[in-house]
Amino acid sequence: MFQKIFPNIYAFVSENSGSNVFLLIGEKETALIDSGTEGNKQALIESLASLDLKPEDISLVLYTHGHADHFGLDFLFTNAKRAMHKFDAEQINLGNASFACASFFPGTKFPKISILLEPNQEIDLGKIKLKCLHTPGHTEGSICFFEQEKGLLFSGDTVFAEGFGRTDLPSGNATKMAESLKKLQKMGFKGLFPGHGPFLLGQENIDLAP
Ligand SMILES: [Zn+2]
Ligand SMILES: [Zn+2]
Repeated sequence: MFQKIFPNIYAFVSENSGSNVFLLIGEKETALIDSGTEGNKQALIESLASLDLKPEDISLVLYTHGHADHFGLDFLFTNAKRAMHKFDAEQINLGNASFACASFFPGTKFPKISILLEPNQEIDLGKIKLKCLHTPGHTEGSICFFEQEKGLLFSGDTVFAEGFGRTDLPSGNATKMAESLKKLQKMGFKGLFPGHGPFLLGQENIDLAP
């Protein structure tokens, strides 16, 4: 079920290998950050229903990167635009199963990404603004979405509550990961919302050191 983080910002913390999903209800867009996988289909539909939302009400899905554990449920959101960093998006639009690690999730359907995100691009959901921080390392096109007003970082598989993402998958790069973590550490977060596992909120000076 969704946990309310702030008015109009909710977290669905996955209990299986599918990714966490975050819901941001702006005045212009009803957006998800990542969609999770088929294994969370019923739970996510029920979570949305608890807020009087249907999957068709989602207008935008923002992807932290192009791995199948984050986009497997994409097909549910039939009215949504999809956004991802241009590098990962190119692989996903080609249906590159090895890039997406799709063999862990047989039957994965690949989304068509229409919005190719650039580093530092601002996304205005209406009263909620996100900045795209390009943080290569886990994949070349990994992005963290930063909500600057409250200091919330939606970090995908770049940083978790404990530790950081693996760098041995296609386009992964340990040197770039170290640089990305350094860049993030300078930003000063009040909340960390990763792609897997628990989130952190209300702690000063969250330590992102590897
Ligand atoms: Zn990943
Ligand atoms: Zn993941």
